[in-house]
Amino acid sequence: MPTVVPLFEAKRFAVHDGPGVRTVLFVKGCPLRCRWCHNPEGQQSQPELAYYEHKCRQCGECVAVCPQGAHAMADGRHVFNRAACIGCGACEEVCLGRALKLMGRPVTVEQARQIVLEDCEFYADGGGVTLSGGEPLLYPDFCAELFTRLKADGIHCALDTCGAVGWECFERVLPHTDMFLYDVKHADQARHCQYTGLSNRQIVENLKRLAQCGVPVEIRIPVIPGFNDDPVSVRALGLLLHGLPSIVAVRLLPYHQAHSKYEAIGCPDHMPDADTPTPARMAAIAAQLAESSGQTLR
Ligand code: SF4
Ligand code: SF4
Repeated sequence: MPTVVPLFEAKRFAVHDGPGVRTVLFVKGCPLRCRWCHNPEGQQSQPELAYYEHKCRQCGECVAVCPQGAHAMADGRHVFNRAACIGCGACEEVCLGRALKLMGRPVTVEQARQIVLEDCEFYADGGGVTLSGGEPLLYPDFCAELFTRLKADGIHCALDTCGAVGWECFERVLPHTDMFLYDVKHADQARHCQYTGLSNRQIVENLKRLAQCGVPVEIRIPVIPGFNDDPVSVRALGLLLHGLPSIVAVRLLPYHQAHSKYEAIGCPDHMPDADTPTPARMAAIAAQLAESSGQTLR
């Protein structure tokens, strides 16, 4: 029985998800529920149908193919009953307007490898594959198997994690992983829990252990207005990272709204009603973080 994971996107020619040009595979399923999540389609592990109403041509093609009767036409307008959908994907195939997209198709290790190999001519400058999500370490066997095969193909393998998994998941992939991208959100446990649904205790413990393992780690911090962009929070994050070995860089990611994605998958939107931090604000936070952490900001 091959190891299979739900994949919701394969992003090609990515340049901000590890070194060089990369293919990023996004798997579905995540233990966190960050309020600012800009990939809400990656949170649940089961398939979900995204419906982009503005793209709908009102053709009604989806009505005939749905085994659940989830699509209907009423007064010439398409109506989607999300509660009836079982995520089979049949309607996506007939939707010429691309208004329907199934998030979370099962892929085997070999299918994922083939997706990555299609781009291998672009990896010459140190690029490769990055597994992201969602949380790829919910599927440690898949990650380890895929990386084992891709490393045999000579491809650089990076893994983007939120860190909220058992240490045994890291142990499973460590021998096969060239680099980790590690998301850190807040140093304060209570505040972390309030905004992500989980304490940061396991995340911090795993980071400290991982930093001792000799594999390069890039820290990624989403800068969320009103959550972690104040001087006290920035300094606490800096002190958390201070002195950790194996940290090759710290990257700040400015908050962006993603309301349309929440709408497309019909899930409640808890994103902060805030603007994207300006470049000047990001630079000021980066300077403060560089000083308190002693790490290199990118
Ligand atoms: S994914 Fe399948 S069940 Fe869901 S609406 Fe489309 S055809 Fe119907
Ligand atoms: S097939 Fe697509 S474009 Fe046509 S009615 Fe259904 S959702 Fe709209």
